[in-house]
Amino acid sequence: MLNIKNLHVQVGDNPILHGIDLTVRPGEVHAIMGPNGSGKSTLSATLAGKEDYEVIEGEISFNGKDITELDPDERAGEGVFLAFQYPVEIPGVSNKLFLKTALNGIRQYQGKDELDRFEFEDLLEEKAALLKMPMDLLERSVNEGFSGGEKKRNDILQMAVLSPQLCVLDETDSGLDIDALKAVSHGVNSLRDGKRAFIMVTHYQRILDYIKPDFVHVLYKGKIIKSGDHTLAATLEEKGYGWLIGEE
Ligand code: ADP
Ligand code: MG
Ligand code: MG
Repeated sequence: MLNIKNLHVQVGDNPILHGIDLTVRPGEVHAIMGPNGSGKSTLSATLAGKEDYEVIEGEISFNGKDITELDPDERAGEGVFLAFQYPVEIPGVSNKLFLKTALNGIRQYQGKDELDRFEFEDLLEEKAALLKMPMDLLERSVNEGFSGGEKKRNDILQMAVLSPQLCVLDETDSGLDIDALKAVSHGVNSLRDGKRAFIMVTHYQRILDYIKPDFVHVLYKGKIIKSGDHTLAATLEEKGYGWLIGEE
């Protein structure tokens, strides 16, 4: 599904990623871990196609199509979703309207009919119930005055409604209390269906107790220096990163 080959990325004049190779197949969950400043957020931002993240070498292909030069809206249309590390607030735009606009934009890109108000309401209610998300959050402005936990739940709700094939979650677990962490994990797990793939970027092992990854990769100084199965996360929790990067 996703094939990243020899990806080199720079931001401004700073080279940050130095040759990433990663293959993600349908249904898989990949965790990207690594110390602060390793380039994890740069990798997610690059996957989402955010401006300022310049691919200077290598290729990102998705379902066989080269998406390296596509803009974020086009990538969303292709089925890639990024939950932002620091979700934006959009004062004056209700969560509901935002989601409806985003969803219909994607449907239009995919050549599907737009959902009308009633079809959209039904979909939203179904997804909100699935995630145990209170409906009143949907009437509020996007992320405005949301608590940290509410923002993250909202990210997951957006993901459920937009129904992408590949979800990239950048530190969705940071700053969550245990109830919010469980709610978010429940949301992600309920969206796992054997076809949808996830890339979970996380600094901590904690969320991986709830969402079991198929693969764990350690990013350090812009390179993947180790890959393994879910037991690698537990080893990292126990031993830290020092043993991997030549420090004890
Ligand atoms: P992580 O998410 O693993 O903590 P980041 O991808 O945020 O790492 O950062 C990797 C490196 O790139 C850091 O040295 C950081 O200072 C640098 N960096 C990230 N974003 C920018 C930016 N917009 N401009 C300049 N340097 C950046
Ligand atoms: Mg960082
Ligand atoms: Mg980061």
